[in-house]
Parts: sequence; structure tokens; C-alpha cells
Amino acid sequence: MRRKMVAGNWKMNGTRASVAELIESLRQQQLPGSVEMIVFPSELHLGSVIEALEAMPVGVGAQDCAVERGFGALTGECSATQLADVGAGWVLVGHSERRLVLGEGLEVINRKFAAAQAEGLVPVLCLGETLEQRQAGSTMQVVGEQLSSVIADRGIGSFANAVIAYEPVWAIGSGLTATPDQAQEVHAAIRGLLAEHDPQVAASARLLYGGSVKADNAAQLFAMPDIDGGLVGGASLKAEEFGAICRAAGN
Ligand code: PEP
Repeated sequence: MRRKMVAGNWKMNGTRASVAELIESLRQQQLPGSVEMIVFPSELHLGSVIEALEAMPVGVGAQDCAVERGFGALTGECSATQLADVGAGWVLVGHSERRLVLGEGLEVINRKFAAAQAEGLVPVLCLGETLEQRQAGSTMQVVGEQLSSVIADRGIGSFANAVIAYEPVWAIGSGLTATPDQAQEVHAAIRGLLAEHDPQVAASARLLYGGSVKADNAAQLFAMPDIDGGLVGGASLKAEEFGAICRAAGN
């Protein structure tokens, strides 16, 4: 049985005051014990969020990590070693905003995935196609290439300690959610691809859907057989909305 998971990607948002307020509001929420909940604040707030959430059943992860482990001359970067040191347990890898806006390619993503796992962090590998790619009928080719690149580099066994998030780029922050059937189709194909390498890993891997998940569409998405929860952007900045999404995953 795969435990449902809801992850909140806070992206480049928040001041010290607004983050403290968000955490205070999260404290007021009834959160389901059956669901694994993680938030991904900006790196700047990581340490304070980890401390503030210590007594809550909500884990904390980072939105990115450096390609290199350890310490050294890599200005502006933060290594998985440093993230683990402050107590982060997770890291987003290959988010479409980093692939498309910052030009992160497959090799960089493979290295970040490897660095995260080498430091005991669980990577959440984000995959997804653009609208043009979907319209051209190449969704599975694109998503398959993104996933196969990590499998080829790290081995299928690495997915025993990783989470995959399918996030169609056209659905991120756009208010356009993939229908449960559209999302399920891609999730089933992702699980199928994992199964070609190792059926056991495929059966236990958690596949999250991301792209305009909200309280009012979460339950239908999470009811699909291959959707094990959500990666939530905008809606995770509102504690009530995030709480409702977590409860939808628990039902
Ligand atoms: C995201 O960026 O990971 C995301 C899913 O964003 P949103 O929920 O705002 O579409």
C-alpha cells in the first residue's frame, strides 16, 4: 500500500513575517495522520521553517540543490550536504521552472538527483510536457525521456528512495488542471516504464500529480489508481486550502 503524499512548493515566495503567519495558520489545520505532508520553502527560510514545524507532522524539503556534494567553490549554490545539515529531508529536482526558465538539462538533473540521494535526501523528480509537446502528441516521449535519463544514470533501484511528480507545464500556475483521466493516463505510463525495469520498484513508487491542484479538484485526482498525492504550488501558500488538499488525500 503506497502512503499518500501532499507536497507544497512555496517557490520564490514569502517574507519572514508571511512565512511565520503561514506556519501559524498551518498549525490551526486538522491534518490527516495517514498522509505524508512536506513543504518546500525558499532556501532562505529553510532553517526557520524546519525549527517551526518540528512538533508538527509536516516534513520540510528544499526546492533545489547543487550538482556537487560537500563544500567548496560554487558561488550561489547550496549543496545537498548543507541541506541535510540544516535538517531538510527532501529536495525537488527537475522542476519545469528550472528546466525551462533556467535551462537545466538532463545531465544537470541527473547530478542533482545523485547528490541528493548521496546525502540521504529524498529527491522528488519532476517530469512534464509543454502545451506544444502535448498538442504534438509527444507527451509520453518527453516524459519518458526525462525519466529514462535518470534511470539510465542512477539505476532503477534509486527509485526505491525517490518520488516522481508528473507536472504538465501547461497546468502549472495556469488554473488549467489536467483531468483525472489525462493525469491517470500519464501516471500509468510512468509506472509502466518503471515496471519494465523493476516491477517491485514500480509498484511501490509514489507518483504525485502537480498542476493547479486545489481543494475542489484534489479528491477526484487522488482517487485515480496511479495518483498517490499531489505537488501543490499556489494553493500551498494558503493554509486552509493546503489543509483541505491534505484531508482530501486522507479520505
Ligand atoms: C508547481 O509549481 O509545482 C505547481 C504544481 O504549481 P501550481 O500548483 O501553482 O500549478
